[in-house]
Amino acid sequence: MSAPAAERPLVEVRGVNKYFGVHHVLKDIDLDVQRGEVVIVIGPSGSGKSTLCRSINRLETIDSGDIYIDGNLLPEEGKALAHLRSEVGMVFQSFNLFAHKTVLENVTLAPIKVHKTSKADAKKRAMELLTRVGVADHANKLPAQLSGGQQQRVAIARSLAMDPKVILLDEPTSALDPEMINEVLDVMIELARSGMTMLVVTHEMGFAKKAADRVVFMSDGAIVEEAPPEEFFSHPKSDRAKDFLSKIL
Ligand code: ADP
Ligand code: MG
Repeated sequence: MSAPAAERPLVEVRGVNKYFGVHHVLKDIDLDVQRGEVVIVIGPSGSGKSTLCRSINRLETIDSGDIYIDGNLLPEEGKALAHLRSEVGMVFQSFNLFAHKTVLENVTLAPIKVHKTSKADAKKRAMELLTRVGVADHANKLPAQLSGGQQQRVAIARSLAMDPKVILLDEPTSALDPEMINEVLDVMIELARSGMTMLVVTHEMGFAKKAADRVVFMSDGAIVEEAPPEEFFSHPKSDRAKDFLSKIL
């Protein structure tokens, strides 16, 4: 008998392999994210960070291994997959808001469609979330009328509107102008402190040091080392991590 769900990590990645053609992009990945834990994934471009995130949300299929969310094997398709996606929020580098819908509609759409929340309830909750991320004043605008930092905060609110069990954020600040990075990191730090379980691909040391419980370093499709942020940044063990840090610090 397997352990009851509540005793298992919220995210369990077990022996996952993924190929694009002959290119082996995820190599025997094992990774747990505990409830309330904030895990940062860092590593060189092309090391498989996005593919790992996308696999956890099943935006990519995997070739072998298992991924469990809250004790449940990631479903292949259909209603179970739609339900799973509502439990695993995802925020992308490029915001991915619906361009022809208002900020408010972007946040209410999925709760109404997937969770069958009433329009009034969805709107009330959306306004609370937009207030939380500091963009309530822009609720009736289209995404293009907002700055990049504001759009990314809307994307975070949209993700939270589904009450996900975990949020995956894939380089959420790397498409932003420097002056907008902190407003998004501040929202992420608040989210982390509120107890949200988060897997974040980011090279932002400030966020790592303030909010992360653990840093996972990936290189060439594999997890090379993991450690608490202070330890990883001051005493990386592997040559690959040392080399990577020497380039970004
Ligand atoms: P990272 O996010 O760490 O930069 P990715 O997960 O995006 O890395 O990519 C890992 C490797 O997989 C890279 O070599 C990339 O070129 C390749 N790759 C990613 N997506 C695809 C795809 N859809 N088709 C083919 N190769 C891909
Ligand atoms: Mg990437």
